[in-house]
Amino acid sequence: MALHRVRPGRPGRYEDVFTAPLSQQALPKYRMPDAPSAPDVVYDLLHEELLLDGNSVQNLATFCTTWNSDEVKRIMAETLDKNMIDKDEYPQTAEIENRCVNIIADLWRSPAEHEPMGCSTTGSSEAAMLGGLALKWRWRQAREAAGKPADRPNLVCGPVQICWKKFARYFDVELREVPLEPGATGLRPHQLAHYVDENTIGVVAILGVTFTCDYEPVAEIAKALDAIQANTGHDVPIHVDAASGGFVAPFTDPDLVWDFRLDRVASINASGHKYGLAPLGVGWVVWRTADALPKDLIFYVNYLGGNMPTFALNFSRPGGEVIAQYYQFLRLGRDGYRRVQEACMDTAQYLAGQISGLGPFELLYDGSTALPAVCYTLRGDAGFTLYDLTEQLRTRGWQVPSYPLPPARDQTVVQRVLVRHGAGRDEMALLVDDVKRALRRLGGHSTCAPHQPGFHH
Ligand SMILES: *Cc1c(COP(=O)(O)O)cnc(C)c1O
Repeated sequence: MALHRVRPGRPGRYEDVFTAPLSQQALPKYRMPDAPSAPDVVYDLLHEELLLDGNSVQNLATFCTTWNSDEVKRIMAETLDKNMIDKDEYPQTAEIENRCVNIIADLWRSPAEHEPMGCSTTGSSEAAMLGGLALKWRWRQAREAAGKPADRPNLVCGPVQICWKKFARYFDVELREVPLEPGATGLRPHQLAHYVDENTIGVVAILGVTFTCDYEPVAEIAKALDAIQANTGHDVPIHVDAASGGFVAPFTDPDLVWDFRLDRVASINASGHKYGLAPLGVGWVVWRTADALPKDLIFYVNYLGGNMPTFALNFSRPGGEVIAQYYQFLRLGRDGYRRVQEACMDTAQYLAGQISGLGPFELLYDGSTALPAVCYTLRGDAGFTLYDLTEQLRTRGWQVPSYPLPPARDQTVVQRVLVRHGAGRDEMALLVDDVKRALRRLGGHSTCAPHQPGFHH
């Protein structure tokens, strides 16, 4: 980036960004300026301001894609005008969405005799709303058909991401959050019987719990619901929130049964923009069969030409992310996805080994069986808190969040590092060096050498 771009001989243009009038004042912030400014001056100043955001490479809190290839950047730039809703104007973009739904349904072992039913969304949150609405509609239809009241729906889940709390509140469903058992990293199947009843529209099982990065045992949850049905008659479907795991498990753990191989799984969502490796702004939801998605949730749009079905909360939405998702599927193939995710898993396990070797930490999840991530807590006698460590790491630009686990383990504060495409082994080694430095500053008993070459107090 040119900080002092000189543009001699161009009349009406400023010679230097920082001598332009806009640079010599604080930028107008809360009221639009009266006059226009030169585009490159405004661009450079905004570019500079955004450096204050910190860099996403060191944001180890996010599950989302932060590394994008040049080709993806080009696709995104070239598709700025594609509106996902204009399926008649942009039939190829619509077709590509359809291909992605088929590819994803196949990855999730959708039964071959059914045409997959699904769509893209802005992310897993919208996908969760659509999945939850379908559950609610189906439950209500069944209750009404049986002549029973349908005014008190509930949804049963473990430590869910906030989107399910939003779903419950926005769409008037009681959320029955099952508390974490001592030592548990997610919902445990034997807990369900106390929470499920005739008004349960579904159970959410999470493939990649936000707080711990572990998978909930979907097959065992399905089995527990089979037993509940045998005892009570309540036939409760599962929605799998596979926001992260939906693009990890099929590649790193193909024999793990969590998907449409389980009859009870009615629908699955995932974030294309997490381990799906697409740029920000795309999620997916797929239903087992067309029956799992009640017809009256689908709207038909005829004023764009044609008569196109849509099930979405948004109307207009960018199409570039969907096209970039398809690009990634073609570019990497199954083998490429497997290698990317396995590289992340290996790096996460390396990090877990380093962290546990430092002394004061206790691993809750070591990156070997679920998401490529590490989650740990601090032993009681460390003499500092994980929040202190978060702050220390922040001085070197690392964003490593500390937070309490959900009830009933909320006395346990944990720290979590996500290893994503683009985070190499060396980056994690540098992080470990900074953790060691931080521990020395905090006075924690690290087992590493107290003075390393090049380190100055
Ligand atoms: C990230 C996440 C979500 C929300 O997904 P967005 O794509 O950010 O909307 C929902 N559930 C789980 C388990 C997640 O990890």
